[in-house]
Amino acid sequence: MSEILDIAKKDGRWVECPSCSEIILKKKLEENLWICNHCDHHFRISAKDRVGIICDEGSFVPLEADESEGMEADEEAISCGKASIDGRGCWLGIMDFSHKGGTMGVALGRKVVRLMDASRESGLPLVIFPASGGVRIQEGIWGLLQMLRTVHARDRMKGTPFITVFTDPTSGGVTASFAALADILLAEPKARIGFAGPRVIQSTLNCAIPQGFQDAETLLKNGFLDRIVHRRDLRDTLSFFLKWF
Ligand SMILES: [Zn+2]
Repeated sequence: MSEILDIAKKDGRWVECPSCSEIILKKKLEENLWICNHCDHHFRISAKDRVGIICDEGSFVPLEADESEGMEADEEAISCGKASIDGRGCWLGIMDFSHKGGTMGVALGRKVVRLMDASRESGLPLVIFPASGGVRIQEGIWGLLQMLRTVHARDRMKGTPFITVFTDPTSGGVTASFAALADILLAEPKARIGFAGPRVIQSTLNCAIPQGFQDAETLLKNGFLDRIVHRRDLRDTLSFFLKWF
């Protein structure tokens, strides 16, 4: 069996589900919105795939790059732009965990601020999909300052509607700053959302941590989230909420 597994993995057309270990044809997985059809595990996806799932076809227009951002901006772990979802206009910020663990450095902070300002100026709602390991620690205090900077930008938005859809995993300074400050907090099933990771908490408190304590399901039960939304229902749910504004 393990030989078959190795061959399947090397082949590149097959993917192993990290939750149930089922080997799935990549094409099938893509057709199923990157959800395992055996255990319902929601795979981490790229910003491009996310746009394809929730936006009206061809409606996504990237936020114009600021000259001061230079080339660096294109490589950042967030894709920002304007789009329509079921005919309703909104601004979108989609983070990609595969890019340096979705960490927030100066360039990312600047992009989030510009996105929030664009939303405020146009009066169109903002939808952010965070996926992050937290602040980019290599940038030291400048990385940490992005928490303050994005929170101020969020504060300036005042009455402009803001929705967060937490995806797996969101942690550290991103959870603890702009991501958790939305008017409506949604999450994908089983998404891990927290500040410090479970191992750090366990070793600090020196006690066992209950299973799934940072899962979206636990957070919903404890009042941190408003709703958990299956990826298949995400577009309809966002359309429902955007209708309010
Ligand atoms: Zn699975």
